[in-house]
Amino acid sequence: MQIIHPLADMTRWSNEVIASGKTLALVPTMGYFHAGHLSLMRLAGRLADHVVVSLFVNSLQFGPREDLSGYPRDLERDARIAENERVDMLFVPTHEEMYSADFNSRVRVDGITDTLCGKQRPNHFEGVTTVVAKLFNIIKPHCAVFGQKDFQQLSVIRKMVSELNWDIEIFAHPIVREDDGLAMSSRNAYLSSEERGKALCLYNAIQHAKARFADGVCDTGQLKSEIRDIISANSGVSIDYISVVDKDTLSDKEVIDSQSVLALAIKVGGTRLIDNCFMGNDSEVSN
Ligand code: AMP
Repeated sequence: MQIIHPLADMTRWSNEVIASGKTLALVPTMGYFHAGHLSLMRLAGRLADHVVVSLFVNSLQFGPREDLSGYPRDLERDARIAENERVDMLFVPTHEEMYSADFNSRVRVDGITDTLCGKQRPNHFEGVTTVVAKLFNIIKPHCAVFGQKDFQQLSVIRKMVSELNWDIEIFAHPIVREDDGLAMSSRNAYLSSEERGKALCLYNAIQHAKARFADGVCDTGQLKSEIRDIISANSGVSIDYISVVDKDTLSDKEVIDSQSVLALAIKVGGTRLIDNCFMGNDSEVSN
């Protein structure tokens, strides 16, 4: 595995791969790898001849009071971990090269970014789509892999790719969880052991919702109120949102059906955690 920092070197390498007739899969990340990231890398390895993993803590997608400066970073550790996977290139651009001092361009997807995390984190998705657009143009992958964990992000990226006519296939990887069900996240590193225990209420809420839906409960108001009770039973945990939305349009659903997604965001102490599930059968790898 090689590590590349300069944008021009990354593009040169990609151009050579493409000119040789080989295919390229990209896995965009902010690093501090966990098993979720590794699963995405493995899927990418099955989809293309070469795998590029980008590692960039993207300042544009953090709000002014968010955790940009404290976001966990450890390039040496990440490089060691990625080395054991079938990753050809770890692309680690510098902030200065990605965003020059007078950088003033943005890629924005309207509509589906107004709901869920977009409501709580203004400009977040604009930061995501801008960096992903730059990565697509620098690397020119044939396909890219994103996690279902960031369900809204995946929808936004798919819409951007379709509406801007990028010939890049987007693949989704299901949520990878710890043994007890907590969705893996780099931000789990912030949790104290007590908070780690409380964070499980997210998964408990999801399990409860799926069981209730299987029993025939499809009233969103009813289910939301039950989920609120499960989460609120934990002191120090606050709810950002509990939403049931259509899996494609992300519009609110009053009646739950198999096309619905339950999306949750909570704060455990100072740590914001998200999780979601399809109310129908969880799709396996999809594109
Ligand atoms: P991040 O480094 O947190 O920006 O995540 C990079 C990619 O990994 C994104 O596409 C995430 O959706 C995905 N990802 C993060 N955590 C998980 C997880 N637990 N399961 C599946 N994908 C994940």
